[in-house]
Amino acid sequence: MNIFEEIIANRKPADKVYEDDKVIAIKDIYPHAPVHLLIIPKKQYKSLQEVPSEDLSIISHIAKVAQILAKEFQVEDGYRLITNIGPDAGQAIFHLHFHLVGGKKLGSIA
Ligand code: AMP
Repeated sequence: MNIFEEIIANRKPADKVYEDDKVIAIKDIYPHAPVHLLIIPKKQYKSLQEVPSEDLSIISHIAKVAQILAKEFQVEDGYRLITNIGPDAGQAIFHLHFHLVGGKKLGSIA
């Protein structure tokens, strides 16, 4: 079981800021910006690359949750929604998640 599955199952603590039947959102434990949240589907996919086409509606759901959280955390005028896919992109936890990052002027993407 990866750390996000353990958090979803309430076996490990996390600073949860949102939950519904499909996703949870938590504060990143090592934030890169004043606002750094992780939006995580409850269903396990290794990365975006592994989401089958019949399940892609989870991505629009995550986008909707990002809009809600960006408003709640007052970064709706400028934030980044990022998913790392694979080790070359810096993915460390192989359970799909999107970083919602904002609250400061962000640098270039790569
Ligand atoms: P990635 O590199 O895209 O796989 O991102 C993994 C993210 O998960 C990193 O930004 C970590 O800081 C974060 N992280 C790891 N463990 C935890 C945890 N227990 N609670 C919250 N965030 C975590």
